[in-house]
Amino acid sequence: VDGERAPGDGVEDKAENQLRPQTLADFTGQKAVRENLSVFIQAAKARGEAMDHTLFYGPPGLGKTTLAQIMARELGVNFRATSGPVIAKAGDLAALLTNLEPRDVLFIDEIHRLNPAVEEFLYPAMEDYQMDLIIGEGPAARSVRIDLAPFTLVAATTRAGLITRPLRERFGIPLHLQFYTEDELTSIVSRGGRVLDMPLDEGGAREIARRSRGTPRVAGRLLRRVRDFASVAGATVIDISAADDALRRLDVDDRGLDLMDRRYLKCMAENYGGGPVGVETLAAALANERDVLEEVVEPFLIQQGLVQRTPRGRMLTVQGWRYIGMEAPRSVEA
Ligand code: ATP
Repeated sequence: VDGERAPGDGVEDKAENQLRPQTLADFTGQKAVRENLSVFIQAAKARGEAMDHTLFYGPPGLGKTTLAQIMARELGVNFRATSGPVIAKAGDLAALLTNLEPRDVLFIDEIHRLNPAVEEFLYPAMEDYQMDLIIGEGPAARSVRIDLAPFTLVAATTRAGLITRPLRERFGIPLHLQFYTEDELTSIVSRGGRVLDMPLDEGGAREIARRSRGTPRVAGRLLRRVRDFASVAGATVIDISAADDALRRLDVDDRGLDLMDRRYLKCMAENYGGGPVGVETLAAALANERDVLEEVVEPFLIQQGLVQRTPRGRMLTVQGWRYIGMEAPRSVEA
């Protein structure tokens, strides 16, 4: 599915790393987030303290991991990374925390998937840089308190709504990442073209940007695929028509919707009269995972005004109906 990181896809991961901006100044877009971060980084450095815990939330592929790495680099500290589902028990987290040096950044991706026992263990670590470990078993068990180096927890989630309140409240700096504008993505794609040494002109870059679902990760992937098509076709410069040709073959339509998006919209119209329909039902009908629909597919369709989330389920909007070339029933308000 578009926007998803294919697990274990080492080649794509490597290609992504190649395109990763290394400094805040190199990072395009997310202006408010960048400006805030820059102030907090400078302030923490001036005081010689660990920066406050930071939570990034927003759809996948918008740069959460990239920003966490940049924070560590600009703070001049080590970057350690893990993810919610990987930390199975409190002991795993303890091992990570006790190995941190003062002011280090610990990045936990997908923090909403942390197991509740581990999460509780994280509270005193975040608040007082302390943790209580239970040593031994049965009547001989005792609890020992361990002091940790002051550290910065940087966490990322695609689903802010799934984070418990006590955890959310322990982040001093919550930052919301938004979809990128066409101009921002155009400059990201142009920079990518230079990094990859591609003959890409402004029109070609803009065409890829426009059809990238507001998402740098998608832009990077489309850029690499367009390069493949262009090089096989022997194009000397990737202009708007070369880009269009390649994107069409990739089934990315004029507005950036892919096959999955179109199947989703059609399924809603043809099987459920445009909704309201529950996400579980849609996931089963599309033989896809609910999480993928909620985290990857729907945010963009909602942002585009094609789908609406209501308390009774998802609904196609008038524009959604129009998009798939069908007439909206009268009950759907414009
Ligand atoms: P996930 O939700 O999967 O953790 P993410 O939000 O952490 O995703 P990243 O891994 O940071 O996303 O970024 C995905 C890709 O997009 C990387 O290749 C990165 O280089 C690129 N990218 C992200 N933001 C920008 C940006 N502002 N400028 C240029 N490239 C970017």
